[in-house]
Amino acid sequence: MNIIVCIKQVPDSSRVKVDPKTSTLIRSGVPSILNPYDHFALSQALKIKQKTGAAITVLSMGPNQAQSVIRLALALGADKGILLSDRAFAGSDTWATSYALATAIKKIGSYDLVMCGQMAIDGDTAQTGPGIAYHLGIPQITFCDNIDTAAGKIVVRKIIDGGHQIMEADLPALVTMTMPFDYVADYPSFLGAFHAQKKPSETWTAAYIGADPKNLGLEGSPTRVDRIFPPPARQKGQVFTGSNSELADKVLEVLAKEEII
Ligand SMILES: Cc1cc2nc3c(=O)[nH]c(=O)nc-3n(C[C@H](O)[C@H](O)[C@H](O)COP(=O)(O)OP(=O)(O)OC[C@H]3O[C@@H](n4cnc5c(N)ncnc54)[C@H](O)[C@@H]3O)c2cc1C
Repeated sequence: MNIIVCIKQVPDSSRVKVDPKTSTLIRSGVPSILNPYDHFALSQALKIKQKTGAAITVLSMGPNQAQSVIRLALALGADKGILLSDRAFAGSDTWATSYALATAIKKIGSYDLVMCGQMAIDGDTAQTGPGIAYHLGIPQITFCDNIDTAAGKIVVRKIIDGGHQIMEADLPALVTMTMPFDYVADYPSFLGAFHAQKKPSETWTAAYIGADPKNLGLEGSPTRVDRIFPPPARQKGQVFTGSNSELADKVLEVLAKEEII
């Protein structure tokens, strides 16, 4: 069984701020990390590997510095890394990104299962996984917190409002993972990091995967971002004091003044 896990390097979003003048994200000085949801996907792929001996390829699209998340994934137990890196990919929205990743997956050729995170913590759209499935023409199940394999298919637990569903799909298929219900944080061991250095890791360009340049970058991106801005700061609240009946009168007075009642 061949599993491809799509992993994205993201800025540690708890440390990112918006520049009020340019309305762009201030990324300088912000450390980059493996997108946590992709770490969850990889942990489930490693669980399947333990059970079935599956081979895991991690695939990332980004600048050369994204090699670090590939090295981390290899140290955690993935078998091969592929970085899509080329100026032609710059400016790609989720549509163009999913086209590029799907084209690379076709180039890899032999795959049974494609795994993505539920979303990337910087972009937050959760569109790339479904986009890849569309471009590959394979079934997809999103927002899963557990996955298992059984004779040519997968069985997953999909989170829905107020509960979950158990779903099956024939392979090949794509799943997006949220935090597994039995997740235990995993860290690379010293030995894992040592072996990772000998594992194959390649960098592929747009021309190498045969991607149509018209479908990449800004030209291939139907999305236009008008403005990015932090939500306005909330007004300071008012504090009322007094007896219960005085407080009730005050609240009624304010609600009436604001024309809420
Ligand atoms: C007009 C426009 C221009 C943009 N220009 C740039 C730019 O120049 N540079 C830039 O870095 N971003 C750019 N972006 C952002 C870029 O489109 C998104 O980062 C990317 O498409 C993924 O979307 P997302 O972050 O919402 O991921 P989601 O859709 O939330 O991600 C879901 C899952 O898909 C997989 N995935 C997503 N992205 C990747 C990836 N790159 N590699 C491997 N797996 C992945 C992961 O498994 C992830 O958990 C641009 C966006 C727009 C709208």
